[in-house]
This record gives sequence, C-alpha cells and structure tokens, in this order.
Amino acid sequence: MKEKILTFDNVKLIYHTVRGETVATEGLSFEISEGEFVAMIGPSGCGKSTLLSLAAGLLKPSEGTVTRRGSVGYMLQRDELFPWRTIEKNILLPLEIQKKLTSEAREEAKKLAEKYGLKEFLGSYPAELSGGMRQRAALIRTLAPGPDILLLDEPFSALDYQTRLNVTQDVAGIIRREHKTALLITHDISEAISLADRVIVLTGRPARVAHTHSLGFGEDDPLKRRENRQFSVWFELLWKELNA
Ligand code: ADP
Ligand code: MG
Repeated sequence: MKEKILTFDNVKLIYHTVRGETVATEGLSFEISEGEFVAMIGPSGCGKSTLLSLAAGLLKPSEGTVTRRGSVGYMLQRDELFPWRTIEKNILLPLEIQKKLTSEAREEAKKLAEKYGLKEFLGSYPAELSGGMRQRAALIRTLAPGPDILLLDEPFSALDYQTRLNVTQDVAGIIRREHKTALLITHDISEAISLADRVIVLTGRPARVAHTHSLGFGEDDPLKRRENRQFSVWFELLWKELNA
C-alpha cells in the first residue's frame, strides 16, 4: 500500500458571517495516496476552494479531521506572479519566504525552470510572457520548494480554450514527470478525465463525496486520452453524476 498523503475524515466547515452561517462542507471524507493524481469536480459554489484551503491548513475544520503528511504547493486560478519581479525572482519567492533559499536550492529551482523551457525567460517580467508560459512559470514556482502534494484550484480556467488544451498538456506532463501527488479542482469534466488517475464527484453545497472513479486509462497523455473511446463514456457518466 502506498502511503496516504492527505486524509479528510468526516470534515465539516462552517463560515460565520454577519449575514449568518454557511455550511461549506459536511461529512466530507476522502484519501489521497502518494503519487496519485486526483481530480475533483463539483458544482460552482459547492465548497471546492474551501476544501483546498482545509487541505493546505489555511482553514481549520469545524468538525472532523484533516491529516496531511508533508508540505503543500498551492496553485491558483490566476497565475499570481508578481509583475514587478522577474520570472526568476518569482520562481524563487516561495523559497525566499520559507527561508530555504540556499545557493543549492536556487540552482535546483533554476534547473527545473530550464528543464521546462523557461531558461530564456528567467530575466523577463511576467507581462512579457504568454498566458500559457506564465502558468508554466507559476507551476515551476509551486514545484521549486519540493512540495509533497500539489493543490491546484482551477488553474486553467482563466485561459482561453486553445491555450487551455496546450497548457493542460504541458502542466500534466510536468507533474507526471516529477512524480508529484496532485489534487486538481476543476469544473471542467474533460479536464478531469484527461488528467487524473481518479475522479471524485462532489455534491452541491455542503460538499460531500458523491462518487469516486478510478479511470484506468493506462495512458497519461491528455490528448491521447481524449481520442480514447473510453473518454466519452466517462464524460457521459460524470456529466450525469454532476447534474443529478
Ligand atoms: P467553490 O470553490 O466550489 O465555488 P467555495 O469553497 O469558494 O466554492 O465556497 C463555498 C461556499 O462558501 C459558497 O457559498 C461561498 O459563498 C461560501 N464562502 C466561501 N468563502 C467564504 C468566506 N470567507 N466567508 C463566508 N462564506 C464563504
Ligand atoms: Mg472555487
């Protein structure tokens, strides 16, 4: 058995605001093992971002427990690169903040950036890069400190369709090659099927696990998966489950 990296056990989270209480998740339980790439889909507003904040330890559950082994890398919808810092300085920022910026760590981070085609952009500013390249830089920045699990909150949804297909391909390839454990939140069924080992379907708010499926493609290339006959079978099933 592979080691569990993230475990949610019967998790409830209540937001208290001046207008009252919102129960974002309740009775939420799932596990993610080392090396797994899990996608979660669920209706808008069901509690997906909340769940990632819980996984990252930014929020504490009102009930139940969240157990995580190791460190997290968190990647958001918009690339969130700082416009006044060069790509290199952006990539080194988490290491800087975590006070892990040794000369060795710096070299490792730059090597990672070079390995994934950012060498010529290290001295550039984010505005000089395409949307796809910025997402790639954001991913490298997230990977640089060597997180044990990647939490991805709809990281492609701000991109136009064509760019999204390419960036998805790109980012998925990097995550696979680096053997990272990943939890990807998305509202895009195709994205989930083309990337994940396993798809978890959430209910409407409060989010709970409605279904979980191991996809079993035996093939990690998102474009090849899209051509696979199983793709539309999964799509139809997940669409039904999401809209049930
Ligand atoms: P999703 O990411 O699935 O769209 P969220 O996790 O962002 O959903 O939000 C789930 C619910 O919790 C929504 O009803 C949202 O309005 C509410 N919510 C999210 N963040 C807060 C907050 N900081 N304070 C109060 N309510 C919040
Ligand atoms: Mg969200």
